Amino acid sequence: MGHPAETIVPAPDVPAFEDVVQAARRLEGAAHKTPVLTSRTADARTGARLFFKAENLQRAGSFKFRGAYNAIAALDEAARRRGVVAFSSGNHAQAIALAGQLQGAPVVVVMPHDAPAMKVAATRGYGAEVVIYDRYKEDREAIGRRLSAERGLALIPPFDHADVIAGQGTAAMELIGETGPLDLILACLGGGGLTSGTALAAHALSPGCRVIGVEPEAGDDARQSLNRGEIVQIPVPQTIADGAQTTALGRRTFAIMRERVADVVTVSDAQLVDTMRFLAERLKIVVEPTGCLAAAAALHGAVPVEGKRVGVILSGGNVDIAAFARMVG
Ligand SMILES: *Cc1c(COP(=O)(O)O)cnc(C)c1O
Repeated sequence: MGHPAETIVPAPDVPAFEDVVQAARRLEGAAHKTPVLTSRTADARTGARLFFKAENLQRAGSFKFRGAYNAIAALDEAARRRGVVAFSSGNHAQAIALAGQLQGAPVVVVMPHDAPAMKVAATRGYGAEVVIYDRYKEDREAIGRRLSAERGLALIPPFDHADVIAGQGTAAMELIGETGPLDLILACLGGGGLTSGTALAAHALSPGCRVIGVEPEAGDDARQSLNRGEIVQIPVPQTIADGAQTTALGRRTFAIMRERVADVVTVSDAQLVDTMRFLAERLKIVVEPTGCLAAAAALHGAVPVEGKRVGVILSGGNVDIAAFARMVG
């Protein structure tokens, strides 16, 4: 944190802003340019001017479509025809399945036996082959690597991948393109793909704009990592923010974040529920718990926002509607 730009060690697999620009070109016509929503009530409550980037309305229901689509688009023709493999029980699975279907790449997703039936069905619905593994007995990374080796599939992880990070950065690029310069952008934070991509875009397009990652209170590994200057690994955090139950940042996301991210803050599950309710009542939108992290930080004072122009990324909307109703009811 706070190092001059010169201290960045050049590494070919850590993306730069130019890669975000290239991703935006690839996503043209494939990803939705999601709306930027405002709310007088939210502004009155916080004393800020808040701009909500509604990635809950993105294709396949989250920003993950951006990185997944870009990573497949970056493959050469032969590799794309052989196909890709990912392991995820969450939004990356659906994103990679849809992105592969749109680009003619066969997709295999490795999912745990206890993944929600709805998510397995959604992933299959986009044409992907789902390989089920026992999360207590088998190692999904080993399965992914074996499938990759046996079938020549490109392994596309959910965050620690240059083309994935660059794709995620296109959401902030669109946001700033619409709002003009911002003082601050808040990003929902799990493994850091969205936050590091956002930081690349903000640094180039709105100099002086601070980027802050927001993670669940139960799993503050990113905050610990930035404070310590090394990647800290934690046990799987117990939180309703299931898209942020990551145990460690990636090598690439950490490298970008330590140079470009101003701070990491946390919010509680109760604050996430309050935020889900607020966004439903006031903005009339369904945002999943993980997708509320950034908004909760603004609405609950985890970050001082008064008097500032603040971008808030609503990262996803994939939540079982009955579960949503129980949580906000
Ligand atoms: C994956 C995900 C996140 C976390 O993104 P990272 O790139 O892993 O930090 C946040 N919100 C939603 C809705 C997600 O699906």
